[in-house]
Amino acid sequence: MYTPEQEQRLTRLTETLLKNLSAPHDAEEAGQYIALLREVIPYHDWRYYVRSEAVISDADYDRLFTALRQLEERYPQFQDPDSPTQRVARTLTKEFPTVSHLVPMLSLENSYDAGDLRAWHQRVRELTQTDLIPYCVEPKLDGASISLIYENDRLVRGATRGDGIEGEDITPNVRVLRSLPLRAPLTAHGIQRMEIRGEVIIPKEAFLRLNEKRLAAGEVPFANARNAASGGLRQQDARLVADRQMEAIVYHISYAVDASGNDLLARSLNSHSGNILLLHRLGFKTPHGHLRCFSDIEEVIAYCQQAEQHRENYPYEIDGLVIKVDTIGLQERCGATSHHPRWAMAYKFAARQAITTLLRVEFQVGRTGTITPVAKLEPVALSGVTVSSISLFNEDFIREKDLRIGDRVVIERAGDVIPYVVQAVTGARTGQEKPVVFPKHCPSCQALLHKTADEANWRCVNARCPAQLAERLRHFASKDAMDIAGMGPATVEEFLQAGLLHRISDMYRLDPEAIRQLPGWRDKSVSNLIAALEASKNQPLHRLLYGLGIRYVGETTAKKLAEQVTDLREFTRWTPEQFQQIEDIGPKVAASLYDFFQQKENQEELDELARLGVAVSRRQTEKPAGPLSGKTFLFTGTLTMKRKEAEELVEKLGGTILSSVTTKLNYLVVGENPGSKLEKARKLQTVQILTEKEFGELVGKS
Ligand code: AMP
Ligand code: ZN
Repeated sequence: MYTPEQEQRLTRLTETLLKNLSAPHDAEEAGQYIALLREVIPYHDWRYYVRSEAVISDADYDRLFTALRQLEERYPQFQDPDSPTQRVARTLTKEFPTVSHLVPMLSLENSYDAGDLRAWHQRVRELTQTDLIPYCVEPKLDGASISLIYENDRLVRGATRGDGIEGEDITPNVRVLRSLPLRAPLTAHGIQRMEIRGEVIIPKEAFLRLNEKRLAAGEVPFANARNAASGGLRQQDARLVADRQMEAIVYHISYAVDASGNDLLARSLNSHSGNILLLHRLGFKTPHGHLRCFSDIEEVIAYCQQAEQHRENYPYEIDGLVIKVDTIGLQERCGATSHHPRWAMAYKFAARQAITTLLRVEFQVGRTGTITPVAKLEPVALSGVTVSSISLFNEDFIREKDLRIGDRVVIERAGDVIPYVVQAVTGARTGQEKPVVFPKHCPSCQALLHKTADEANWRCVNARCPAQLAERLRHFASKDAMDIAGMGPATVEEFLQAGLLHRISDMYRLDPEAIRQLPGWRDKSVSNLIAALEASKNQPLHRLLYGLGIRYVGETTAKKLAEQVTDLREFTRWTPEQFQQIEDIGPKVAASLYDFFQQKENQEELDELARLGVAVSRRQTEKPAGPLSGKTFLFTGTLTMKRKEAEELVEKLGGTILSSVTTKLNYLVVGENPGSKLEKARKLQTVQILTEKEFGELVGKS
């Protein structure tokens, strides 16, 4: 950890370096630059990876990093294995050598309820011959365990747990984890050599993104963050380790000696909670924020039960809590079995796995024609919900897991993630199981399915495919799109069957008389539906655009796009390059948009919608006229007034809020700690940049 004074100094130093990254005059000056860069870069790693609060932009970080790398290349005499540039080894590790842990890495004993914990407390009292036991409770991280050795302030070894006695030496890979310092000021605390334990995890958010990326790249998603982390740590190419967004959280000092070889545990390092705080101060990521200490086992129990209710609030997966005797002296009196220490106990949360039977696989056609295999399961309870159907993503996923019809399968629900098939229980096979046959033809329209090399899913490309039509209609009417109350999936299906709908615009041609003929429809429900359809005609442009169901165009993209035009039909004249100019739109999305707006049927459909009264162009009435009419605004950084209030003020005066910096932007209002928008606006040179004070004057005066 850095003191406020150190932080100030390093922040100033960073600014100076960023301004003066010119070529040094001689080797001596280069050496000075290098030393300073090696001081500030680990500081920013710590801000970013341990504190999760960066103080400089990614671009500036990259500039510092590149500068250091270039200087080291030009002046190789300053090479240092602990330089931030040396985190990633460029060689492949063929085999990880086996190494012995300084202290065996044991398992934990498990408890599941209050009774288990009370019985354990009783045993601890007997073993320690004391009644007052201080306890600490911390999250049980569900990742891959690691052991690290630091010597003379340097990280010298990282290893997997292995069998607990011996593990694999994965030093090149743990060095890549930026949440781990390569150097830490241990000797300043009298520690010459130290072995610590921790868990390598992937935060939930990062894991979701990782899997989305894998799916988009046509790869099989990871079953859970734990597998992705333990596999990630054992990759042969250390350069790939960084891709998995892993973090190391350390929670235990298992060994610590001073320069004369004296054991420091139970001496200067005499409490578990104190040791965690020390690790935190040394710059490690620790669970100190989630550490609770109690002096009464009943308080421990109450806390455990309460924490289980909130397990979703942790940013990473936890499978329980660990209760530890806080005083190291008392821990030593408890001792250990060959399997687990007697001074610690895991409190396991309810299982999130279940085993059930894979009954069959159905193939669903999405609104853009994507075929998704869906497992139909014997219904089974899994952390509070009944699961009977789970997506299998794509063909590769089924092949990779070798899932067969009739298999017993393990399913898991991790965090807020939707349930997932982990694996087939191959040991339970009877020989009667049948392979999953992937269809060659669309299950709805029988058209031949297509798949390009860069995609994971087969698709039905028949524009008139009824299954796609049904999905498109449902999507159009859904809450986040045109939000047509009464036009739910069942109604869409009913109208399709009755031949009332053939394309989206048919919704606005629905004849009340024809609906009334259908069973179950009354005057009231018909008039409600017609009213809802009428109301939807004035939905904002971005909802209509999103509702059209263009491939890869989600809500955010639709919003960004809609800002660019006053009539959606303008897009029929756009080139793929124009689409790509918009923030976050890459070649794939641009191509999809271009294709959509080039198709004659789609162009006609937009004209039809306009003719039927749907707002295809921005209405004059959408914005109240005011002194800021026609002016566009965007805010960045922290303002003294609430961001929302500022935005509402602009809109009240007739102005528009944009979501990104483009040539359409007139004013960028800059608060404290502005983001990358400021840089972008400066580059464009067409945007007027205002301080909050200037903004106040603008809205006050006008
Ligand atoms: P198990 O493998 O279920 O017997 O649990 C023991 C493992 O839990 C240890 O080897 C650690 O890798 C892991 N673990 C996760 N969080 C903690 C923690 N806070 N304290 C101790 N062990 C933990
Ligand atoms: Zn089809």
